[in-house]
Amino acid sequence: MFDLKGKVAIVTGGNRGIGLGMARGLARAGARVVVAARDEEKSAAAVRELGGDTLALGVDVSSEQSVNALIAQAVQRCGRIDILVNNAGINIRKPVQDLSLDEWRTVMDTNLTSAFLCSRAVYPHLKQAGGGKIINIGSMMSIFGASFVGPYAASKGGLVQLTKALATAWAGDGIQVNAILPGWIDTDLTAAAKKQIEGLNERVLARTPAGRWGNPGDFAGIAVFLASAASDFVTGAAIPVDGGYASQG
Ligand code: NDP
Repeated sequence: MFDLKGKVAIVTGGNRGIGLGMARGLARAGARVVVAARDEEKSAAAVRELGGDTLALGVDVSSEQSVNALIAQAVQRCGRIDILVNNAGINIRKPVQDLSLDEWRTVMDTNLTSAFLCSRAVYPHLKQAGGGKIINIGSMMSIFGASFVGPYAASKGGLVQLTKALATAWAGDGIQVNAILPGWIDTDLTAAAKKQIEGLNERVLARTPAGRWGNPGDFAGIAVFLASAASDFVTGAAIPVDGGYASQG
């Protein structure tokens, strides 16, 4: 039910953090993983660690041309695509009134437009493979707001609605589209936030019922579930993986 042998999975931002955590799970379940990101050294290190027939392909997910080239190369090298994980993401933490239009667009393009571009490019290949899986990585900011995350929250809320729209559009093609909403996870992204926001560590620990930060390994199981036949009747869902953060009143 959870076997991914013979399947090809593209993980954007798969060279570190949550993306690498999911890539580890998918590779262990037998998938051939394509690590898709910009930093070649980090991607090469991820490929060495994941082993098997993993490969790294460079991409800037905010560029239509780069995304189309990635998908074409992946099909050329692997022969098929079964699973797409739209994980690459960034944040620019600033009060909204201080944001430039360029900063707004950079976050929206990297976090949200990228998922549209990758999903659109991969669709004919999933259809050709007889069905497939798309997993979008949202956030607690898909549900909640905060004063310093205007475009981030807008992009992550949008990702949940895009998930539902794609799920309904492509269910008839045997393609399931779901979102994962991580809580506070220990990665490079939040290391920067911890430095920038005083008291963040304590607030996260107090607010998270599990009493700890998540780690990339917490995403291996959910990725395998949403990428495998185990979730064939699950589509359009947004699943928190948050140690109970979103359930705490
Ligand atoms: P990291 O900063 O550790 O990793 C981000 C990844 O995205 C890197 O692999 C990076 O690779 C890639 N990336 C960024 N911009 C681009 C781009 N333009 N093109 C291609 N790849 C890009 O972050 P996390 O692992 O923490 O975050 C992963 C996802 O999870 C993000 O979508 C984030 O919003 C989400 N998330 C994280 C949470 C957390 O607490 N950590 C909480 C909720 C959601 P490279 O730089 O090599 O391109």
